Amino acid sequence: MNDIIVGIDLGTTNSAIGVVDSGFPMLLADDGGKRIMPSAVWYGPSGEIEVGHKALRRRPIEGSRVITSVKRLMGRELSVEESESLGGKTAEQVSADILRELKRRAEWRLGKALTKAVITVPAYFHDGQRNATKRAGELAGWEVVRILNEPTAAALSYGLDQLGERSRVAVYDLGGGTFDLSILEMQDGVFQVLSTHGDTQLGGDDLDRVLAEKMIGLAGLEAASVGHDAWIRWRVEAERVKCALSERALETFAMPFFDGVNSFSREVTRVEFSEWIQPWVARTLSCCRRALSDARLESNEIDALVLVGGSSRIPVVRTAVESLFGRVADLSQHPDEAIALGATIQAGVISGAMKHLVLLDVTPLSLGIETLGGLMNVLIPRNTTIPCKAGELFTNAVHEQKAMRVRVLQGEREMARDNWELGIVDIPFKPAAKGQARIGVQLHIDENGILEVLARDVKTGIDQILTIRSSAVDVSDESVEKMVGDSVEHAFSDMAERIFTEAKLKAEELLPAVEQALELGRQWLSAKEIKTIETARAEVCQALLEKEPNSLKAAVQRLDTATEALAAKIVQQAMDEALDRQLSL
Ligand code: ADP
Ligand code: MG
Repeated sequence: MNDIIVGIDLGTTNSAIGVVDSGFPMLLADDGGKRIMPSAVWYGPSGEIEVGHKALRRRPIEGSRVITSVKRLMGRELSVEESESLGGKTAEQVSADILRELKRRAEWRLGKALTKAVITVPAYFHDGQRNATKRAGELAGWEVVRILNEPTAAALSYGLDQLGERSRVAVYDLGGGTFDLSILEMQDGVFQVLSTHGDTQLGGDDLDRVLAEKMIGLAGLEAASVGHDAWIRWRVEAERVKCALSERALETFAMPFFDGVNSFSREVTRVEFSEWIQPWVARTLSCCRRALSDARLESNEIDALVLVGGSSRIPVVRTAVESLFGRVADLSQHPDEAIALGATIQAGVISGAMKHLVLLDVTPLSLGIETLGGLMNVLIPRNTTIPCKAGELFTNAVHEQKAMRVRVLQGEREMARDNWELGIVDIPFKPAAKGQARIGVQLHIDENGILEVLARDVKTGIDQILTIRSSAVDVSDESVEKMVGDSVEHAFSDMAERIFTEAKLKAEELLPAVEQALELGRQWLSAKEIKTIETARAEVCQALLEKEPNSLKAAVQRLDTATEALAAKIVQQAMDEALDRQLSL
């Protein structure tokens, strides 16, 4: 099993981390059960650091010590004002503190050290910004195995990589501080970005500000005259009301003692709020039209529409985008978790953890070897969990045989020829009488799905090993379905053929033996007994000619029973003679 690789959405407003566990991608929650962590860092006066919700909670009192939206500054020359806002840190260092906190959380959740990560960036990030993100990851102690585009991650989380060649996906991402629309096209199994358009100064924060300013106005105040700390309280309440209005049609905006004396309270309806934010929604739509025209596409040439980013939960946003594209959006994933989930899926594909569940967990088809008469002898049945091993002892069927051929087969059919041959091993052995050589054959599938065939000459202890890579488990779904379907369809004829083959093998062994026994023991038998045996023998020969499986099986059975007493008598006789010989010596 390869190293675990985590997936990280390092967002402007929020970040999240996930991992593939038992084949399922899942985000890792903090000790409070929250999967989403605000991308906020508080730097205390004596070097302490707090990240996430804890950092945000300090904002109303120590606003200047809390850094948010650092992603906007990644990989850029900073203005003096921007530099000062970072309090002597670089954007990479602050991002590294966020990534370090995510690492701590994931290691605590999983109870083991983690080193490898896939980190997402917006499709419009240039090389400098991508490299800065990678360096931030390394500063935090991650080996960054891939920088992944956010819209690609979003599409992966919805399983849109299954859509097929040339499919086009529009990803509308309205987060906390940024907006972008990307059009992807599936080419040779990977998503290519056909076009991306956006506004790095447009997001949920703007909507909070719009609502806060409205309320401040209704409270009879001048927005400009509200002090910094008070302004943060209005904004925090505005965000709460905004989010509530995504679920309800009405919510009360309440600011008790906003100036220490007076309180403010007002009911806000979803309809009102929708109207107030309309200009911002319209701006996102014009970006969508630009992205479409850049890609030279009409909105009806898009095969799937995905909405991500927390702000896409707002009903008026959703309906506006759906009407522009003339289709409903897939809402099966949480919009604010989709990117982290997609990064996690990509990480799982790179590490092999995703494929593990889908293909390598159980054997899709039975594995066995060909035995006498061309029969399939199943050693590991279909749907056995891997790793697993199974073996059987075989013997030579022919006198003075010098080698045995082991054909490794896969499939559900009774006859070897109807199954797939995975490989052949020839095991040489010292010529021996029929049934004297002993060959042990063992099939072993390891956790990576690699099949190893071990064939041992039990007498000499010499092993032959054949390794069959992946084919034992790496079988396409269609061929498994076809094989299983065929085995059901041919169940009766296959079974008849197996019965006939087994009975024929028995008959071929029995007939010469009966011949010999009759010669040796005729004197001990009554005429009636001889008649019974000869009738039974004739019936076996007749059934062999008729190729009638069930009557052959029955005839062989009768012949076996008819000669039982005679065979026992002959054995007894032989032993007596041997004893006599010994006594006379
Ligand atoms: P980013 O990608 O910018 O890091 P997210 O995708 O997590 O951020 O989006 C964060 C934004 O989504 C914030 O502005 C937040 O207020 C907004 N948001 C989250 N939930 C809702 C909701 N239920 N209704 C409206 N807006 C929401
Ligand atoms: Mg985001």
